[in-house]
Amino acid sequence: MRVAVLAHETDFEGWRKAARAFRQAGVAPERAAFRIGASGDGLFDERLPLAGPGAAPFSVPKAFVDLAREVILHRSADRLDLLYRLLWRLGGEPDLMKVVTDIDVAAAVERARNVSRASHKMKAFVRFRRIEDEAGERWVAWFEPAHRVVEKTAPFFVRRFTSLRWSILTPDGSASWDGEQLTFGPPATRAMAPSEDEVEEFWKTYYASTFNPARLKTKAMRSEMPQRYWKNLPEAALIPELVAQSAVRTEAMVAAPAPEPNARLARTLSRLNRDGAFGEGFAPSTLDELDQAVQACRRCPLWRDATQGVCGEGPKRARLMIVGEQPGDQEDLAGHPFVGPAGRVLDAALEQAGIDRGDVFVTNAVKHFKHEPRGKRRLHKTPNTAEVSACRWWLEAERRLVRPKVIVAMGGTAALGVLARKVAVTRERGRGIDLSDGAKALVTVHPSFLLRIPDAAARAVERDRFVADLKQARALL
Ligand code: SF4
Repeated sequence: MRVAVLAHETDFEGWRKAARAFRQAGVAPERAAFRIGASGDGLFDERLPLAGPGAAPFSVPKAFVDLAREVILHRSADRLDLLYRLLWRLGGEPDLMKVVTDIDVAAAVERARNVSRASHKMKAFVRFRRIEDEAGERWVAWFEPAHRVVEKTAPFFVRRFTSLRWSILTPDGSASWDGEQLTFGPPATRAMAPSEDEVEEFWKTYYASTFNPARLKTKAMRSEMPQRYWKNLPEAALIPELVAQSAVRTEAMVAAPAPEPNARLARTLSRLNRDGAFGEGFAPSTLDELDQAVQACRRCPLWRDATQGVCGEGPKRARLMIVGEQPGDQEDLAGHPFVGPAGRVLDAALEQAGIDRGDVFVTNAVKHFKHEPRGKRRLHKTPNTAEVSACRWWLEAERRLVRPKVIVAMGGTAALGVLARKVAVTRERGRGIDLSDGAKALVTVHPSFLLRIPDAAARAVERDRFVADLKQARALL
């Protein structure tokens, strides 16, 4: 048995060096082992084998290297052996990574997906608490990620909280940002993190006030906010009581008189009427103005049942614009595009494609949520051609203001909005299409399509194709 000793659990460079040496020396997977730190039991030959003088150099697909970087963050004990088995097999099967039904490829893809999910949960469920240290205010969070994703995920918090000093403590290691530099430290314990602060009370009050008992879906809630994270979420302490009260509160809501019309809408309508802004020739000159005007739009009937119009968000001069279909249930309530489950799929795919969501202007072909009531739920309905055509006026206004170089249309409705013609997504996806303003469009599927595929292997294939389309859009830039 040949053994390589890696410096730590996520020592990718150490694994890569050892695996390359193993393969060049012809060490088969069943004779290769990887250990963390000193093995100490004396049963193994711990020297890395030296490749013979005739050992041929070799290369592997980038897809494998990218996958391996993710898989090594998984907590499974056999992940390093799995990766070496794949590397070994790539010698005789150069197209192995494309065989998604292969047992090793599927296992690695599944683990990479678990790692990506753990990273997203970390982004969603880290809760900072304020302390004072010798340099002033510092925000500290305790978090227990499902996989070893601290180093992978810390840059997200740097972008999100650039101006704050913060630390995230985990059992795997800690990440700290001092306003200029991100550093990583040793594992921590929960006792090293503060337990509560006054911001927490504010957050709990906010959470309780936004909790809508009529929209309570405990199954979906548990899947989006798994119970393993509850112990570190201040608002989680409120959930059992809020759930228990939901039936009573729903009855009270139903019995209550209809609320006054949306104050924001009333203000906007009155201002636009007063200024005559909705007359012929009206064209918003800023994204804020466009957002306000959409609240007053009556070009089609969809405004009637929606909470609000949801316009695009992102840099004013983004080079890449992503267009979805319409706001969903969560987007309609939040007033922001792509914040629901499809938005999370999109975020993960963008990250995998090497695109920073912060650089992208994200919007929808239709600005109001089209749905039909089903009990307590509001079921999504696809906008028809007339509604998409009516709302193209707003999409084109966004395009004029942002002036993107590339527009990714996700799904048939988005493609209809962008290209003003019906599009067979499967036939036209993934290639640049010239637009009259000099920009390029690229059609792909909508991320909610990926969420609806029941079979895991088929879903993985489609997800990879979706990421490939996004990479193609990046290449067009
Ligand atoms: Fe206007 Fe578009 Fe809303 Fe229809 S969906 S009312 S066109 S903003």
